[in-house]
Amino acid sequence: MNSKIHPIRIPFQLPVNKKKKVDRVVYSYIITGEELCLVDTGTVGNEHFISTALSEMDLSVKDIKLVINTHEHPDHVGGNTYFKETTQARFACHAEAARWIESLEIQFNERPVHGFYSLAGQSIQVHQKLKDGDEIDLGGGTTLRVIFTPGHSPGSICLFCPQDGSLIAGDVIQPVDGLPLYNNLVQTRNSLKRLMDLSDVKKMYLAWVEKPFVGNEIREALTTSLNYLDRVDAEVKHVVGELPQDAKPEDVTRGVLIRLGLEPPPVMPMTIESIMTHLSIPNIS
Ligand SMILES: [Zn+2]
Repeated sequence: MNSKIHPIRIPFQLPVNKKKKVDRVVYSYIITGEELCLVDTGTVGNEHFISTALSEMDLSVKDIKLVINTHEHPDHVGGNTYFKETTQARFACHAEAARWIESLEIQFNERPVHGFYSLAGQSIQVHQKLKDGDEIDLGGGTTLRVIFTPGHSPGSICLFCPQDGSLIAGDVIQPVDGLPLYNNLVQTRNSLKRLMDLSDVKKMYLAWVEKPFVGNEIREALTTSLNYLDRVDAEVKHVVGELPQDAKPEDVTRGVLIRLGLEPPPVMPMTIESIMTHLSIPNIS
C-alpha cells in the first residue's frame, strides 16, 4: 500500500543573534486522505516548497481541505496566512497551541525568538481546537488520532494514522546534538514515555528529518531522547553546584550548553527556558 504520508523539506535560516543565522530544515507533511491535509506550514516565504511538492503529486494548494499545526512554534506556522488566503481549508491545532497561533504577539512576548516574525508571519484564527483522543476523518477510510504530547511547547500534539501505522511527531523528539528546546521537563518526559507505550506505530515521522524511524528505531529514538534529558539534567545539577548561589539563569545556561558541547553557547530565551525547567521541579528521573 502506498504511504498516505508525504514529507516536504523546507530549508530556512534561523537567526541566533542579531548578526548570525544558521541553516535549518523543517518538514511539513501532506496526508492524502480523500480530503487533502497539510500538517505544519513551515516558515513564511517558503510556501513554494509545499506548492511545488503538491504539483509533483498532481495536486494543487487549492486541494488542501485541512491544515493542522502540530504546535505553535514559528517554523511550523509561518505559512498559515498564505494557506488561509489561497485555500478554503479549515485550520486546526490543540487548544493550548491556539493561544500563540491566534496571537503571535503574545507568543513573541512570552517566548522571544530572534527574527521571530521573519519566520512566523502573521496570526490567524483557528477553526477547530483539538484535544487528546480526537479522531479526524479525512474520508476514504483515512483518520488521524490526536495525541496530546506537551513539553516541547504547551500545545504540542502528535497525529497517528492507524490505517498507515504512521505517527507524525512534530518536534516532540529533538536531535540530541541540537539545542535543548522544551518548556516543561516533566511533560516532555511523560510525552516521550506515552509514545513509547503506543504499540501499533510502524513509522514515526519527525519535523527535522525526512526518513521516518521504523521498527526498533522508534523505541531507540524515544529512549535516546529520554536519556538525553537525563544527561542535560545531570549537567544542570553539576553547573549549579559549581556556580555561586546567586548565579543568573544566563550563567547556568551558558555553563550547561558548553558542557553539552554547544560552542559558542547559544544563550537565548528559548534555551534559558529549557535549562531552567530542570530547576523548577523535584528530581524525578
Ligand atoms: Zn518546535
